[in-house]
Amino acid sequence: MTAPQVPTRPTWPHDPVPPAPHLTENGRCSDCGVSAMPAAGGEMKVCPACYGLLWHRDIEAHERKLAAAIVERAERARLAAANREEARLQRLAIEEAKHAK
Ligand SMILES: [Zn+2]
Repeated sequence: MTAPQVPTRPTWPHDPVPPAPHLTENGRCSDCGVSAMPAAGGEMKVCPACYGLLWHRDIEAHERKLAAAIVERAERARLAAANREEARLQRLAIEEAKHAK
């Protein structure tokens, strides 16, 4: 039985990957300058010339989503701690009831 062959990486140099087209401030493709078309129910924009999925990052919306996730995570942690404390108190009450008999 022979040892399994390990794939080797190609050694030739790669050209740098060009940046993906994006949505400019005036709603056009950054590569073609063509007005973008809405896609996926208006959630995405597509260039009708190069068919690029154009993106622009709404930083404020992203930060709002992150802040909401942090608040939600803190609330879940607070509820979990409250549940643990309640379970601990119930166990103590059960133990005390056993010893009182
Ligand atoms: Zn384009």
